[in-house]
Amino acid sequence: MKFEQMQYARPDFDAARETFASLRARIAAAPDAQAQLEAFREFETLSRHISTMSTLAEIRHTVDTRDAFYEAEREFFDANSPALGEAQLDVYRALLASPFRTQLEQALGRLTFEKMEVDVKSSDPAILELMAEENALTTAYEKLYASALIEFDGRKNTVSQMSLYKQNPDRAVRKAAYEAEGAWFDAHRAELDELYDKLVKNRTAQARKLGYENFIPLGAIRMRRIGYTLEDMAAYRAQIKKDFVPVVAELKKLQYARTGVADPKFYDDAFCFADGNPAPHGTPEEILAAGREMYHALSPETAEFIDEMFDGGLFDVLSKEGKAPGGYCTYLADYKAPFIFSNFNGTSDDVDVLTHEAGHAFAAWVAARKDLPMILEEPGMESCEIHSMSMEFLTAEHHEKFFGTDTPRYELAHAEDAMYFLPYGTMVDEFQHIMYAEPDLTPGERNAVWAKLESEYRPWLDFAGLPFYGCGAGWQRQLHIYEVPFYYIDYCLAQTVALQFFTAFLHDKKDAWRRYLALVGEAGGKTYPGLVAAAGLDSPFAPGTLAKLGKEVGAWIAAQDAALNAR
Ligand SMILES: [Zn+2]
Repeated sequence: MKFEQMQYARPDFDAARETFASLRARIAAAPDAQAQLEAFREFETLSRHISTMSTLAEIRHTVDTRDAFYEAEREFFDANSPALGEAQLDVYRALLASPFRTQLEQALGRLTFEKMEVDVKSSDPAILELMAEENALTTAYEKLYASALIEFDGRKNTVSQMSLYKQNPDRAVRKAAYEAEGAWFDAHRAELDELYDKLVKNRTAQARKLGYENFIPLGAIRMRRIGYTLEDMAAYRAQIKKDFVPVVAELKKLQYARTGVADPKFYDDAFCFADGNPAPHGTPEEILAAGREMYHALSPETAEFIDEMFDGGLFDVLSKEGKAPGGYCTYLADYKAPFIFSNFNGTSDDVDVLTHEAGHAFAAWVAARKDLPMILEEPGMESCEIHSMSMEFLTAEHHEKFFGTDTPRYELAHAEDAMYFLPYGTMVDEFQHIMYAEPDLTPGERNAVWAKLESEYRPWLDFAGLPFYGCGAGWQRQLHIYEVPFYYIDYCLAQTVALQFFTAFLHDKKDAWRRYLALVGEAGGKTYPGLVAAAGLDSPFAPGTLAKLGKEVGAWIAAQDAALNAR
């Protein structure tokens, strides 16, 4: 079915709550597993339908924010979904208490129950009030951040608009851009400190109410981490620090030499090419058409997928008046249809939409054909990002369709980005571990922790001349630290796997693709370590994995850099 033909009607939430309550009662009183499975199937059908209507309203609202009807529908879902979510968790609770657990696990898979357990644990009626307060605090941060308008270049810029100036070939412009942005954060320091302090204390109180010593274990539950432990993650961070940081430090020297920066400062960090960053050629329509060709050439599976996406109108990526900013990939369960939203802007971001977001969409499309319980359609966040980040590398053979003779520069910048990200993302995770282990630190102590971590994870950076960054307050720009605690290392865990797909691709393209299909084909039926093993890749938690990966990708970057310099 075409997207425009999909019918929206607001679900009857009162009726849905009653249905969930009666399904819960039927499960509790069921004489056998069969009766419970039947009730569970009805539960899934209704849950899928409500999710489809919510997603449809969200898409149509972001496609045209001026449409008052869908704006009101979204507000309705925002206001009423939490209570309905509790009624759905009650159904999980009834299934988890079933005396027929063995038969249920045979039918639905053991992981289904592990996932339900984690969902139930992360939302307890005892902490609902604290959770509402936490929501209000993150909304306040979001609003403050969105209100940041930075006077620069004769206009008011948002934080994301400032990023272009930070890569400007003129060093004075880069420096001034960092100064202007830092000055906004300096001016709002007290509010930002206070919001974070309240968030840390609120989350600590939630954890203690549930019997944990601090928020760290509850944070792992909220991120639905299954199949690996907090110790595994600490071992990963230690590997990054010991084996990966020295490799990136060497690569940074190549970048500075290439761009002719003799005395590198922080404001030279995002500056990759003296003659500007590679951008895709052609009109937005041509870029979109090249994306379709790319997936036709890649494999029979992706050819079928991309045709369904185009023929179903499941893309809305061209810039239009009234569209919301940003981009996302979502899923319409009733129609088994992914949907991609974006605003093409003429930079390499447009190609990322066609590789990264389409990677998410391809995984959803594959999972939809498997008839799985809803909870097994998607793995955890750390694994969903494997689908997308790996697709960015596995489509490399076709990037010429977008970048032409600029392709080698794009490939170099892309691999460098992936490498540089790992120390930063891991530092964000370690910072949060310290914040929640010691919830009573003062704002000054928090900044001192960040400054120390900067010197360990990114020792090549020199913050001279930038007071905001120099004093260790740079973490206040990172939305995830405020909004979704402990979500961020997921990108590192995924990137570590995506980089392994990159090296596999360099050795044997067909084999790399076969492994990728094996991983995507498991959908959410395995945990993160299980998915990595299914693709025959090294566990990011095992000693030596990051040393080997750093060496291989580092060597490729050095060779690519040398080849470009010789041109
Ligand atoms: Zn993603």
